[in-house]
Order: sequence, then C-alpha cells, then structure tokens
Amino acid sequence: MLTVEQAQHEVLARAKPLPAEPQPLGPALPGLVLAEDVASDIDSPPFRKSMVDGYAITADDLNVSPLGVAVVEEIPAGRAPAKTLLPGQTARIMTGAMLPDSAAAVVMLERTETLPGDVVRILESPIRPGQNILKLGQEMRVGDVVLKAGAVLRPQELGILASVGRTSVNVFRRPRVAVLSTGDEIVEPSERPGPAQIRNSNAALLCGQIARAGGTPHYLGIARDTLESLRPLVDLGLSHDVLVLSGGVSAGKLDLVPEVLRERGVLPAFHKVHMKPGKPLFFGVAPHPRPLTPDPSPPKTGERGEERNEDGGEGGVLVFGLPGNPVSSLVGFELFVRPALRALLGRSEPHVRLIPARLAIDFRHKSDRPTYHPARLEFSEEGLTASPVPWFGSADLRSISQANGFAVLPAEERSYPVGELIDVVAMDLDWSR
Ligand code: AMP
Ligand code: MG
Repeated sequence: MLTVEQAQHEVLARAKPLPAEPQPLGPALPGLVLAEDVASDIDSPPFRKSMVDGYAITADDLNVSPLGVAVVEEIPAGRAPAKTLLPGQTARIMTGAMLPDSAAAVVMLERTETLPGDVVRILESPIRPGQNILKLGQEMRVGDVVLKAGAVLRPQELGILASVGRTSVNVFRRPRVAVLSTGDEIVEPSERPGPAQIRNSNAALLCGQIARAGGTPHYLGIARDTLESLRPLVDLGLSHDVLVLSGGVSAGKLDLVPEVLRERGVLPAFHKVHMKPGKPLFFGVAPHPRPLTPDPSPPKTGERGEERNEDGGEGGVLVFGLPGNPVSSLVGFELFVRPALRALLGRSEPHVRLIPARLAIDFRHKSDRPTYHPARLEFSEEGLTASPVPWFGSADLRSISQANGFAVLPAEERSYPVGELIDVVAMDLDWSR
C-alpha cells in the first residue's frame, strides 16, 4: 500500500497544466496562472509626474532660504503645463500632474504658506533635487517584462495588466471537474430521506471545494450501485478533465466503481493509501477523453490509442474515487485532488504543504495509520497553533465544520503535550499567494 507521499507523487506525475487560452481582464482571473510573458506597451509614468499636491520650483531655488516664490500657474492632473517655470516662480501642482520641464522639485502643500498677492513662502529647507517627482519611465519602460509566465494572477497583477493595456491574457485553462456521487442509499438534498437513506452531502461539499480550488464543477447526479447505472455516468464524467467520484470504492460487494472505471479504460495508479481516514482511495487516468454519447459496451484494447485530447491536453482524464464518508472524501480531496487541480492550473508548486504548528491543547492519539485529524488552526502570539477538534470518525461532518485544517499524526499511540510542534495541513488558507 502506498504512503500518502508516494500516492501524491503518483498523482502529480500525471497532472500537467491544461492548454492555455485567452481570458478577458476581469474578476475571473485571480487564481489563474499566466501562460505568457507580459511586456509593457508604455513608459510609466509616461511623463515626469508630481507625487504630491504642492509647489514646483526650479533648480536655482533649491538652496534659497527663506524662499518666497510667485505662483504663475496651476497644473491639475490631466493637463500639460502651459508655462516654463523661471527662478523665483512656482506652479501649484496636483498629485499625478505633469511637471514643467524646468521644475527640479516639488514641495508639499503642508510645508508652504500662502501670502497675499499669489506669493507662496516655502517653509522647507534644504530641498532635495527631484523630491516628490516620479521620473519618466521610473516604474517601467516600453518592452519591459512586467509579469512573467507562471505568475499566479491576483488583484495586484490585474492592476498591472490594466496599466499596460492588456485587456486579454493567455492563462492555463480552468479544469472542468465532473462530480459523481454513488450509492443506493443516497438521495438529493431537496428530498426527505426515507428509512435507511441519507442525503447527498458529498456532492455539495466537493463542488464547493472544486470551485475554491479554481476548477469548474459539473455535478452529474447520483449513480446507483449497479453496472448499468454507473457506466453511462462514468462515461459522461470521462468527457471532463477530471472525474471525482464518491462512494463505492471499498471492498464491499456493491463497491463497483473500480471495476467500472477499469472497464471504461481508466488505468489504475493506486487503490489504497496508508492513511486515516480514507484508506480506500482510487486514482487512475483515462488516457484519452471519451465521447459525450454514452457507450455501454467496454472499449476494445488499444481502440483509442491514436486519439488526441481535442483541445490539446496531454495528460488524459484524471479520475479520483473517493470514499463515501464525508470526512474521508474531504481529506482525500485535500491531499490528492486539490494538488492535482493546482498542477492542471499551471501552478509551479502544486504539492500539499506540511506546516509546523504548536498544539494549543493536550492531545492523545492512537492509530495504526498516519492520521489527518480535523483541527482548528489559528494565528496567535506564538505563531500558528492547532487545536484538534472532537471527532467521531469519518462520517462526522460537524467536526469538519469546526476545522480549517488537519493535524498530521504518525501511526502510534502517544500523548502530545500543549506546545509540542506538529505538522498540519491548512485547508482554508492558500499559502502560495
Ligand atoms: P461507501 O464508500 O460507498 O462504502 O460509503 C461509505 C459511507 O459513506 C456510507 O455510510 C455511505 O452512506 C456514505 N456516503 C456515501 N456517499 C455519500 C454521499 N454522497 N453523501 C453522504 N454520505 C455518503
Ligand atoms: Mg456506497
């Protein structure tokens, strides 16, 4: 059985960035990764600019003290100066306005005094040449690469794109992720469960995780625990970049998911991981996407050997069969699906990070497998702290609503005192941004 680290390695080895496509500048961009270098089409600032509201003076007046200067002009932002400034003269200038060629410095409004007859007394001395002036091209020059391929776009980067006139950029495409729930006992959230039935909580949970991880979720519904029900829905799922199933992956008689996946051409990479919760976890790759029309007959070997992914993707469809219990599904998602989505999005460091944190409470742990125990992570004066939350096993959804991460605990029986350093996985924080 693979360790978590080995299994993560298997996943990331098969998760390559999706093809790049142009996307308009807008609020859908943050979180996506640039697939091209972006160069400036302008010098910025495009003119010598005042950084403050104040008075511009010439080089001759820099060392004159006390200095009284005559106001000859007022220059608002957006209008070029009309006059040349001479020694003994000043222009009242606004933040962002263009300086007269002969201006050598700007004195802030707060450090001046207005006298009668449009004269201003400068209270600052000495005045540094160039003070409060942004030189032409100081921030960037035409042709400068202002953002490199591989950059993760955040609102700051959107501002830069706007400033260099890029209303569209090439980014790695968002993964389209199909979500398929399985189980004879599962009903939709809108229904009232009958005896022995439960509501489908996994689909909502997984779709939410997928959207937050930067993918586009497509919910396919609930497959029953029969080959006839699973086959067409699995085929539909395989027309996406990623297929995430929940339930039906253990060793029970009705756990048909691995069998159907193999039958539909998915090559298994692993089917169990040495961890708790969520040991039965299937991962495999369908080498090529399938047609949208359901085809109930199993493909012949080699049938799809020459096909290419229509939009240029090379990695095939990544298929995750997560265990049905909600906490197991969530842990499986965090440890395997999220890093895969990050890799498809073109992130250069897609792997899950283990972060050291201090235990905020005494804690006793016993398990024969490495355990991901739901925990509340907080920043305190001592740095990051972790409080494992009460947890009644892998069906306990309420425990994870108190948690924003997991305490990673080795397979052993042990007491952990307050203050001990342990590893945690953060769920609701994106450390790479
Ligand atoms: P399975 O992995 O199919 O053996 O399911 C394990 C447990 O998870 C069972 O108690 C299922 O009822 C439960 N389960 C399976 N799928 C879901 C789901 N979509 N939402 C909530 N619980 C589920
Ligand atoms: Mg089941």
